[in-house]
Amino acid sequence: MTSREIRQAFLDFFKSKGHQIVPSAPVVVKNDPTLMFTNAGMNQFKDLFLGEAAIKFPRVADTQRCLRVSGKHNDLEEVGIDTYHHTLFEMLGNWSFGDYFKKEAIQWAWELFTDVYKLDKDRLYVTIFEGDDSEGLAKDTEAYDFWKALIAEDRILLGNKKDNFWEMGETGPCGPCSEIHYDMRTQEERQEVAGQSLVNADHPQVIEVWNLVFMQFNRLKDGSLQPLPAKHVDTGMGFERLVRSIQGKTSNYDTDVFQPTIQFISQKAGIAYGADEKTDIAMRVVADHIRAISFAIADGQLPSNNKAGYVIRRILRRAVRYAYTFLNFKTPFINELVPLLAAQFDGVFNELKAQESFVQKVILEEEVSFLRTLVTGVQRFENYAESNTTVDGDFAFELYDTYGFPIDLTELLAREKNLSVDMVGFNKALQIQKDRSRAATAIDTGDWILVNEDEGFEFVGYDTLSAKTEIVKYRKV
Ligand code: ATP
Ligand code: MG
Ligand code: MG
Ligand code: MG
Repeated sequence: MTSREIRQAFLDFFKSKGHQIVPSAPVVVKNDPTLMFTNAGMNQFKDLFLGEAAIKFPRVADTQRCLRVSGKHNDLEEVGIDTYHHTLFEMLGNWSFGDYFKKEAIQWAWELFTDVYKLDKDRLYVTIFEGDDSEGLAKDTEAYDFWKALIAEDRILLGNKKDNFWEMGETGPCGPCSEIHYDMRTQEERQEVAGQSLVNADHPQVIEVWNLVFMQFNRLKDGSLQPLPAKHVDTGMGFERLVRSIQGKTSNYDTDVFQPTIQFISQKAGIAYGADEKTDIAMRVVADHIRAISFAIADGQLPSNNKAGYVIRRILRRAVRYAYTFLNFKTPFINELVPLLAAQFDGVFNELKAQESFVQKVILEEEVSFLRTLVTGVQRFENYAESNTTVDGDFAFELYDTYGFPIDLTELLAREKNLSVDMVGFNKALQIQKDRSRAATAIDTGDWILVNEDEGFEFVGYDTLSAKTEIVKYRKV
């Protein structure tokens, strides 16, 4: 099956089970102070789960473009290094708003996997919530029993609260979840550990594909859990991982979702994919990042120096940096991938095709300006590395501030030269700059307002741009 057929089969299947097929929401979130980018299929239905919007269709399914590069879900550092975390990915999902519950959700997931997609039953594992004594939460025996009727018991694994209990936030709907994992280990690898069952934490070829969330509680402000009057199902399945499993590949990048882009990059670079791990990673980074950048721009978020715009600029620069360093692209290149993507997503997410030339132009301009600074910055770094054994915080900050190097790029350069980076010093320099710019007045960034709490703003939480930079969020009261 081609990836197009696989996506369509998902939608057709749930349509046949009475689901309304709805369009994807944009990946850029403009009206929610708690979220910068859509990071799950359920985001657009949040108000339904909270009981703040009327339910039009009790059963819904779609494919949602998601971005996991900030906040609670930030997979950026994994992207390109592993073969199954992307910045932008499609999350296929089916929902029940107070309609069907665990039984149907589990049975249909199994039916879709084994009857429609004909996935090998001997490669499927499922997980269920094991319970949590400290919270007085029971093991999800309902889910266990429904699975037991479908799959051998030694393939049902117990998962803890971290992996198998989903919560929307500090308060609100929550409940146990059940995941489906696919095992692409070789015969030999499977024999070596015969009798042992694995989940993805244990082997890179056993990956989580689908997460079925059963919302049955409401967490109150005091931390206690109340049963929800109406129970909901919220599922999310990584489309690229599904395609990989069905197409029998050991990497998402080997599927027809990514191969056209990878081949284009490989030809332009004159380097074969598979020739070397370093150039492979670079090709994967570029093939992945161009999707995130293109859809963010098509959905209305231009690269900039603030908040969401900065996250996008940073992803774009990460791609340019990998292309420049490992694939030898010294002139703008990644914008040329836009037409390819626009054609690939035609009829799925038409937003890209509709703005193809605009998106390409924005990326080209960014590439031109970043390449100019990059050349100077890399030169600065090379000179510095000749006479130093660590990158001190102030120098890392200079690269960040003057040459636009995100800290992970500096770390990457440093790793290549066996230098360590003084992160404490870097964060200190960064903090000083932030304090300075926050000092007198509020800076309206378009997403939220960064100011002092005592000036009529309420603290609404933290947001993380990278593993190291934290931004404090305020909202006007
Ligand atoms: P993982 O443990 O692999 O990071 P997750 O538990 O964070 O995944 P969920 O929040 O359960 O993911 O999202 C539902 C599904 O979306 C996952 O089962 C997976 O198939 C897919 N998915 C999650 N993150 C990514 C990503 N960064 N790239 C591609 N697919 C993803
Ligand atoms: Mg994750
Ligand atoms: Mg997981
Ligand atoms: Mg999960």
